[in-house]
Amino acid sequence: MAYAYDDQNIFAKILRGEIPNKTVVETDHTLAFEDIRPQAPVHVLVIPKGAYVTYDDFAARASEAEIVDFHRVLAKVVAEAGIDAASGAGCRFISNAGEHGVQEVPHFHMHVLGGRPLGRMLD
Ligand code: 5GP
Repeated sequence: MAYAYDDQNIFAKILRGEIPNKTVVETDHTLAFEDIRPQAPVHVLVIPKGAYVTYDDFAARASEAEIVDFHRVLAKVVAEAGIDAASGAGCRFISNAGEHGVQEVPHFHMHVLGGRPLGRMLD
């Protein structure tokens, strides 16, 4: 089933410049910015500029250029924050989807969390 995109969601407004944000990295296809309610010392949201609702929607419909750019920006966020696993720190990537995933904002975003031990999430 196709996803319906609501262009009044808060991240669409951020992308249109209607709401301010603290930008970390920006490219033609992707924006990374600080979460307004950080759950860790590093809490950045990475979003595509295109209208995608969830990660699977993005993965299914985005161009290869958008998909590659998104992940390169994500890697840059991690490297610049110094939270890559190779450095000994480590981090967590979370993307909530839909009702069961408790997604608040219906524009695909990846949470990048780090800067403290994050505890176990799955058993
Ligand atoms: P979700 O539950 O959809 O995965 O997460 C949405 C995230 O967006 C939350 O962590 C929330 O704090 C963040 N958020 C909601 N509204 C805003 C906003 O206006 N600006 C920023 N920077 N983050 C927001």
